[in-house]
Amino acid sequence: MSRYLIDRYQALEAYTPGEQPRDMQYVKLNTNESPYPPAPGVTEAVLAEAGRLQLYSDPVCADLRDALAARYSVTRQNVFVSNGSDDILNFAFMAFGSPRAYFPDISYGFYPVYADLHGIAAHPVPLRSDFSIDPTDYTSLDGFIAIANPNAPTGMTLSRAQIEDILQTNPDHVVLIDEAYVDFGAESCVPLTAKYDNLLVVQTFSKSRSMAGARLGFAIANDGLIADLEKIKFSTNPYSINRMTLAAGLATLKADDACMANCQRVIDTREATISRLRQMRFEVLPSKANFVFARHPHANGGFLYRQLKARGVLVRHFDTPRIRDFLRITIGAPEQMEVLFEKLEEILDGTVAADKY
Ligand code: PMP
Repeated sequence: MSRYLIDRYQALEAYTPGEQPRDMQYVKLNTNESPYPPAPGVTEAVLAEAGRLQLYSDPVCADLRDALAARYSVTRQNVFVSNGSDDILNFAFMAFGSPRAYFPDISYGFYPVYADLHGIAAHPVPLRSDFSIDPTDYTSLDGFIAIANPNAPTGMTLSRAQIEDILQTNPDHVVLIDEAYVDFGAESCVPLTAKYDNLLVVQTFSKSRSMAGARLGFAIANDGLIADLEKIKFSTNPYSINRMTLAAGLATLKADDACMANCQRVIDTREATISRLRQMRFEVLPSKANFVFARHPHANGGFLYRQLKARGVLVRHFDTPRIRDFLRITIGAPEQMEVLFEKLEEILDGTVAADKY
């Protein structure tokens, strides 16, 4: 830190993204990326656009917003797009978060960072002991609410009806539903945006549409909330999405069936993974995401994480209270999961008595 950083940022604790080590080729199951390549036609669209990089991108993102509007049965005025959903979450906290924000105590690690960044008082709401969200904890609150559905890193969901109850009792505050993982089996709240002007649904092309490296997120909401987000975007960086990403997004939506078929593959692999892990005596939370959250009664999370890494498999471990026994394991391709199972069996065979797993 330099002596020039202004006071209010000095104690800011930045978000720590999942590690991307380069020392060897890992089976990478730690950042919830898709194991499948971008949709057919995306590479060609990006290459074609690369020849026009001397020109700024469209700040209104008209074509992409129209394509998203058609896909989700809304209008362009109901769609906001920006550089990854992280960008949109940041804008949303900036625009709607003050003076206080409520979110689950175990959830996406960026929420408290955005709260801190924008001087918003963070109110973490404890999950139940089974790691589910109690929707009644969010009844009639006095501030902004952010809930990931499915939640991360648990993968557990609320139903649309439960979220509707939260919306009804909080008409004076924005309720942000972060649907980064919704395409893997949860109920989307997009249909509720027509009814509730305080609902902001945020999604991403990073997971279900194999575009994490291109950085493209979108939000769907009442046109008022979208106009507010546009105001923030045009007050920071109007060209927040580059030409190649815009082209990739459009090409991806044209091949949306292929993306949704990949999601189904991930769902099938997830269910097979849950069974295999349970056979090894793991406790696995019920996940509707492209990852599972699991703990073993006789081998702690940090140990398993390190042993797996030494054997070339990367998973995510959070060294924080209540969840340090767990591993968050991204669902990869079936052959990647086979490597995971083989290494886990090897580790458990070497350390845990056979009758205990
Ligand atoms: N929300 C949640 C719950 C996430 O896990 C992630 C991925 N780290 C994001 C949002 C951000 O995704 P992106 O910026 O790649 O769209």
